[in-house]
Amino acid sequence: MTVTRFAPSPTGYIHIGNLRTALFNYMIARQSGGQFILRLDDTDPERSKQEYADAIMQDLEWLGLTWDRIEKQSERLDRYEAAADELREKGRFYECFETPIELDLKRKKQLNMGKPPVYDRTALDLSDEQKDALRAERGSGHWRFKLDQDRIEWTDGILGNLSIDAASVSDPVLIRGDGQFLYTLASVCDDIDFGITQVVRGSDHVTNTATQIQIIEAMGGSVPFFAHHSLLTGPQGEALSKRLGTLALRDLRGQGIEPMALLSLMARLGSSDPVELRGSMDELVAGFDLAKFGSAPTKFDVEDLKPLTSKYVAALPYETMADALAALGVPGEVAADFWSVARENLETRADVAKWWELCRDGAEPLVDAEDQEFVATAKDLLPAAPWTSDTWSEWTTSVKAATGRKGKGLFMPLRKALTGMQHGPDMSRLMPLLQKVNL
Ligand code: GLU
Repeated sequence: MTVTRFAPSPTGYIHIGNLRTALFNYMIARQSGGQFILRLDDTDPERSKQEYADAIMQDLEWLGLTWDRIEKQSERLDRYEAAADELREKGRFYECFETPIELDLKRKKQLNMGKPPVYDRTALDLSDEQKDALRAERGSGHWRFKLDQDRIEWTDGILGNLSIDAASVSDPVLIRGDGQFLYTLASVCDDIDFGITQVVRGSDHVTNTATQIQIIEAMGGSVPFFAHHSLLTGPQGEALSKRLGTLALRDLRGQGIEPMALLSLMARLGSSDPVELRGSMDELVAGFDLAKFGSAPTKFDVEDLKPLTSKYVAALPYETMADALAALGVPGEVAADFWSVARENLETRADVAKWWELCRDGAEPLVDAEDQEFVATAKDLLPAAPWTSDTWSEWTTSVKAATGRKGKGLFMPLRKALTGMQHGPDMSRLMPLLQKVNL
């Protein structure tokens, strides 16, 4: 059975970049009737917060990315401890005592000499007495996994055949000096224990994958299928990392972006398939193919969510909107008509309130100086209420006869006078809904 996971750290709100990872893993699981696990990577007690964990769940639920199982790393510390013991027994784990400043100095020296800044494994040569002395002086050390220094190879679901020389990578730190388990060890234990079959994540994790493959093998686990999707950039190819804070899913929700708009874009962006609004998650799942995604950075423009959202909103059936319209005070007898007139003119669902205000209260007329007289004439010719779907054509016919104007010169000033806007619904359909005009 296919088992995937989405593994955010509850140290902040999830954003558009996280969504891509979550969605890919969700779709892969759903495609084969497998399992999708939400894993909270919360081993850092200072930065992990329950409010962020709650927010992550809310955001995923809003999008319909439901999980079959949830796991918290903070509840599995015993397991990580046992894994650490196992690695120690197998001679794959060693204690190091360098301070961050010392490590930094080493890195700088290596870089100055044109060498890659790989940890030099000095700690491997420490005798037990030296370690005792260092421990007495500096406290417990941090623990590194001892990589086998040969090539680590895998066939990546997006990047193809990869081969990384383990000698070019520092032995990863798995436990900090203060005893905190780091992500790499916890993630490997979880992937093994939960039977994860496919790991899809951002290409910033490629080096992690190389080291994780060796750790999984050292622990006797089976290596899952890995795929690394490209990272998102802004529309001009600029790094998005600094702006991700403003691209939190909850902010997009607050701006009225519709889940299907977001999902339709993110499920296909960066692939050879066109991005178009899909009607359901099932459709997105059915057509999803990891092999269609490329390795180049993916340009993301938040503006692209707007037309998808308005298209989605325009297609919403009246029944879906009935309660919201009633809450706005739209009388039941005109609500369906009102919705069919307004729906094509909305950026978000919330915009419908503006159109209802316009129908109820009338707009501030927009009359250009050269149209003042024309509009005054038109006002005198305005048929008496109640207005029907014929009223607009009757009115414009009589205004045309009286003023000699036609085409845009006739219609546009009248539209602007009645709605205060240059664009909007078909006037013959809107007029019967106008309860007030302020001409
Ligand atoms: N918590 C990690 C992250 O958010 C998970 C990475 C992974 O998928 O293994 O980057």
